[in-house]
Amino acid sequence: MIEFINVGMTYPCGNVGLKNINLTINESEVTVFIGPSGSGKTTLLKMINRLEDNTTGEVKINGKNVKEYDIHKMRWDIGYALQQVALFPHMNVEENIAIVPELKKWKKEKINARIDELLHMIGLEPEKYRKRKPSELSGGEAQRIGIARALAADPKIILMDEPFSALDPITRASLQEDVKKLQKQINKTIVFVTHDIEEAFLLGDKICIIQDGELIQSGTKQEIISNPKNDFVKKFIAIKKKEGEAHE
Ligand code: ADP
Ligand code: MG
Repeated sequence: MIEFINVGMTYPCGNVGLKNINLTINESEVTVFIGPSGSGKTTLLKMINRLEDNTTGEVKINGKNVKEYDIHKMRWDIGYALQQVALFPHMNVEENIAIVPELKKWKKEKINARIDELLHMIGLEPEKYRKRKPSELSGGEAQRIGIARALAADPKIILMDEPFSALDPITRASLQEDVKKLQKQINKTIVFVTHDIEEAFLLGDKICIIQDGELIQSGTKQEIISNPKNDFVKKFIAIKKKEGEAHE
């Protein structure tokens, strides 16, 4: 379980990133942060693996303040996948996936078996893809490898920051399905950032709507649709309704 208790964050330049966030992220659920560009979604996500530190309040994982964990070990247990997939260009697919397992000093055979298992899971033939460099992958394939890498050392928590927003709609839909299937298979705590309400409703057990560094509303899709807290939330849902109507 991840808890934000009265969390605020001001950047050194004085920019306010977050204001008084109170939120519980349940284990084995997909929690989605959604809001416009610049609303604070990435900042909020980065508090969890301490790529940014909260300046007020507390962030806790399993009851313990994140600042009390050994930062490196903690990060090995938190998978992280981003839009700019950031595979290391000079390393091939298997080397990219093996980074954290190697830091954790897994045995070679265990790492190899894990690479095969992950490549099968994301639908890429190990024999074909293991030795490829990132430059020899399509955008969708690179994104899948980024997800495999985030899962490699079997982290309990996976953070995903707009991982699909640079992809074409078909690849994106297929990866969204992958995440849903994965979640059922591996039962992880996933925190997923998006600015797309369709994606949020598709993936999220809990949806957190963020605006100007504040958590405006959180709840299930049904809770938010049936009881939107203000006009801003209504606007998001109105977009959803319009799109739905257009398809009918
Ligand atoms: P989002 O992910 O929702 O687009 P961010 O969390 O990246 O939003 O940013 C939230 C706010 O914090 C924005 O106003 C942004 O300009 C500001 N911000 C982000 N990173 C920094 C930084 N390193 N220094 C100063 N301000 C920042
Ligand atoms: Mg962002």
